[in-house]
Amino acid sequence: MDAQIMKTRIVFTEKCLAYGSWHTEGPERVRKAHEILKEKGYEFLTPEPASEEAILRVHDHEYVWMVKKGLVEDGDTPAYDNIYEHARLSAGAAILAGKVKGFSLMRPPGHHAGRNGAALGAATRGFCYLNNVAIAVNHLNKPTLILDIDGHHGNGTQEIFSGNEKVMYVSLHRHPNYPGTGVVSEANCLNFPLPPDCGNDTYLKTLDKALKTVDINRFEVVAVSAGFDTHAGDLASLGLTEKAYVGIGKRIGALKKPTFFALEGGYSGESVGKDIDSLLQGFESR
Ligand SMILES: [Zn+2]
Repeated sequence: MDAQIMKTRIVFTEKCLAYGSWHTEGPERVRKAHEILKEKGYEFLTPEPASEEAILRVHDHEYVWMVKKGLVEDGDTPAYDNIYEHARLSAGAAILAGKVKGFSLMRPPGHHAGRNGAALGAATRGFCYLNNVAIAVNHLNKPTLILDIDGHHGNGTQEIFSGNEKVMYVSLHRHPNYPGTGVVSEANCLNFPLPPDCGNDTYLKTLDKALKTVDINRFEVVAVSAGFDTHAGDLASLGLTEKAYVGIGKRIGALKKPTFFALEGGYSGESVGKDIDSLLQGFESR
């Protein structure tokens, strides 16, 4: 069914580079990754902003209003000018990635944003405003396995889908680390905390174990929260090298489902670009 034989297309617009140059989650990481993927010959698609209707399927009205008004600043997550428009565009890019089975190379990221902002007791929204992957998954409205490979637990995504029978959330992440959630599995949310710098082998073995617990036949779509801060030396380092991302991609490809990806973390643009290419090479080699 639905073979995904074409080379994965990248959803991107330079508009996402227009703010926050002083911040860890700054434009340089995506600018550099874009440059690398362009050199490697990827095809790019331009996103449209998500509709408010699509956003309100995930986030509460009052929270969306606050993002619009710029009333959502916390220690990690600044209220930039026009942040609602930037966040809407990033969410729209995830929707487009869902439609074309592509990779959204956009910012801001999304997986820490819960229904009303900070999720599951986290102190901040961890650089996130709207939950891009959740908005895309709800927009597609199909039984979906969300695989979160960012080095941080996607507390926002877990909060949004907890108890939702149509969606399963699986996350591998560094523990202890921000946001401090995801230590245990609950119902449809399976969490695999890993020690800092555990390395490629432990990571891939854990991913195998995680995917074995999933009955993939239940799902029509795989959505990947694609963070690369697991890369050795990055913010949530699990000591992974480029090789690990090939292995991750192969395992995702082996699920043989229509799949899309949305960028989360990863704070060295050089690594992000190379790791995305490795992931997609692995994915397409299935
Ligand atoms: Zn992260």
